[in-house]
Amino acid sequence: MEKESSSNEYWESFKSLFRPNEIVTDIKEIDFAALKAKGIKALILDIDDTLLPREVNDIYPAVFEWVVSRKEEGFRLCLTSNSRHPLRVKYIGDTLGIPAISFGFKPLPFAFWKSLEILGTKPEETAMVGDQLFMDILGANILKIYSIFIDHKKEEKFIARYWMRQAEQWLLKNNK
Ligand SMILES: [Mg+2]
Repeated sequence: MEKESSSNEYWESFKSLFRPNEIVTDIKEIDFAALKAKGIKALILDIDDTLLPREVNDIYPAVFEWVVSRKEEGFRLCLTSNSRHPLRVKYIGDTLGIPAISFGFKPLPFAFWKSLEILGTKPEETAMVGDQLFMDILGANILKIYSIFIDHKKEEKFIARYWMRQAEQWLLKNNK
């Protein structure tokens, strides 16, 4: 009996790794006053399909203003991307005035550790904002970083990404 309940516990804590702390459809929906009240001081931001559409190389004025607002509110920011285009990541980081990491290999912890080091914050003072459950959210949850999932429901044309989105939506629905 005891054995059964402990394996249930493991299963529950495993499933919780795939459960975002918050779900929004766009970065503009995040309640930053509420985050501050929770003690969050810094944000790790995914780039592709979180800050900017994957196919866009220029910074939208609205995104620039969003970043400026976060800085004015006192949040420390770090861009942490799995992108294999370091020049794109550097350009976006330089333009927004934020440190930027490419080749992050999320959900592995290395880029998250590096981000925390850059930000100078503890996991519990940090939030990850990203649009991929199996990379951004899983990686953040493993390290107990507050996880905010951007559920943009964008149509995916690339087949592997399409199936990943199907799996994400199934998990979000069946893992509450
Ligand atoms: Mg992304």
